[in-house]
Amino acid sequence: MSPDPGLRRPTPLALKLAEHIRTHGPMSVAEYMSACLWDEASGYYATRHAIGASGDFITAAEISQVFGEMLGLWTGVVWQQVLGAPPAHTLVEYGPGRGTMMRDVLRAARVVPGFAQAVNVHLVEASPVLQALQRETLAQAGVPINWGHNLIGFPAPAIILANEFLDAWPVDQWVKTSHGWRQRGVGLDGNGTLAFCIRDMSETTGALDSLYPQAPAGAIVESQRPERFAEALGALSRTGPFAALIIDYGYATASAGDTLQAVREHRYEYPLASPGEADISAHVSFYELASVLHAAGLAIDGPVTQSEFLGNLGVIERTSRLMHANPARAGEIEMGVARLIAPNGMGTRFKVVGVRAQGLPPLPGFGQATM
Ligand code: SAH
Repeated sequence: MSPDPGLRRPTPLALKLAEHIRTHGPMSVAEYMSACLWDEASGYYATRHAIGASGDFITAAEISQVFGEMLGLWTGVVWQQVLGAPPAHTLVEYGPGRGTMMRDVLRAARVVPGFAQAVNVHLVEASPVLQALQRETLAQAGVPINWGHNLIGFPAPAIILANEFLDAWPVDQWVKTSHGWRQRGVGLDGNGTLAFCIRDMSETTGALDSLYPQAPAGAIVESQRPERFAEALGALSRTGPFAALIIDYGYATASAGDTLQAVREHRYEYPLASPGEADISAHVSFYELASVLHAAGLAIDGPVTQSEFLGNLGVIERTSRLMHANPARAGEIEMGVARLIAPNGMGTRFKVVGVRAQGLPPLPGFGQATM
């Protein structure tokens, strides 16, 4: 069912934002998204832990332990073969949610001799609520773990994992009007409720004309402005070698379209319906991401689909071994993995991109090399 564009719930944040707009005028879509996720009193991530079957949305690691285990094996192999088994390294996760994936990653990576003795875990998490949950999940991990808020600030050599992290980056949008491209914003309609609008008639972006010359009036394009992300990884590569794995829903080619979405209690909602009470995100443009990473002097593997990536790492073989070892859970294990690689679902909607410092060999899972 598609979301009802008329629905507005008077959440505390909706009232606060309406007040703000009355005084200061419309806000950009990125400012709106940022408030929805991070407002101190009412932001979705700032105040809630809604990931999982009983929450608002479910992610790969929460669907099947096999997801984290495959990434754990990948991590072990990258530490050993790509980084050359350094005696100390940092395993970083951006946006670890409940900590489930890191728990499964560490359990699986232990099979690589020496890995567990060498690893220091660093979790980048801005939400105090989720940080507390991660502490609980990882209490028995048996390796040193610390937390930070920044994309860098830990020592290399490093391996970075990020699943469903970049989709939470505030996205800006522009609309094609008869006067050219204009920034889209969130303002108030005649009834004083939140509504999308053209934010500033004077602001225009000429670069969009050359990127999307055929776009019809009303077309919407967006950007997560991932330059800050690329600059951080570029700076990290100047301190030492690193490899990163970024997994998210998104598209691989430059294309126009409004991908802003809100999810509450496992249902899509209009993005203005429940500020602060729904998860709000945008699809990641892997085209844009790869371009800025490349410009920052980094080497890139992929993007490939999640299904190709997990297939290249041998997910089918591992799943059948796991089913054999746990006959009572075989059905559940099989169903979980089937969801991760479903050709009309997560398997193709999710893409995987590898990023590495120049000079490191290609990362496993992207077709050139196998584990
Ligand atoms: N990776 C997890 C959680 C995905 S939800 C999973 O797959 O289940 C997004 C996560 O990223 C949350 O933990 C959120 O708090 C965190 N996050 C989003 N933007 C962030 C930012 N700018 N800085 C730090 N953490 C962020």
